[in-house]
Amino acid sequence: MNNIKGRGVMSKKNKRLPYLKFAEDYDDPYRSEYPNYSYCTECGIAYIDKNWKLDVDDSLNKNPIVCPACRKIKDNYFEGILYISGNFYKSHKDEIINLIKNEEHRQRLRTALPRIGKIEENEDGMIVYTTNDKLAYRLGKALFKAYKGDLSIKWSDNNIFTRVYWERDE
Ligand SMILES: [Zn+2]
Repeated sequence: MNNIKGRGVMSKKNKRLPYLKFAEDYDDPYRSEYPNYSYCTECGIAYIDKNWKLDVDDSLNKNPIVCPACRKIKDNYFEGILYISGNFYKSHKDEIINLIKNEEHRQRLRTALPRIGKIEENEDGMIVYTTNDKLAYRLGKALFKAYKGDLSIKWSDNNIFTRVYWERDE
């Protein structure tokens, strides 16, 4: 646990979200530059004016590539993990999954690259793996905003890997 730099805890008593500054430049092994109108042959997103876009006009696509998110998912390389637990989850599972998917989509309309790579279930609840640290945080924040409960965040040095915990019992 010695790589943990900080920890934000939220509960019913402490509803303020911690201020997080994410590192903008770090040595992401998956980061690359692409020509304009490159598109991912796996998931279909396109790279236009240095932004990743969903739902683009296919006729504009020029340069086929595999995007960093698809490469991360293939390699099982994730930068964020959201742990969902507690009895509330057990009785509201579908609702929670919908909320997470909607929040993912909302975020991807702004920048299409970060996404959920994998969802696992265990006896405590659900584990959501994201290709980007900020997305795990935003999903946790959306759960907290919708259902309260307890949200805590642990991030490693340079904030390139984030663990987010959301729990609600009743
Ligand atoms: Zn892709």
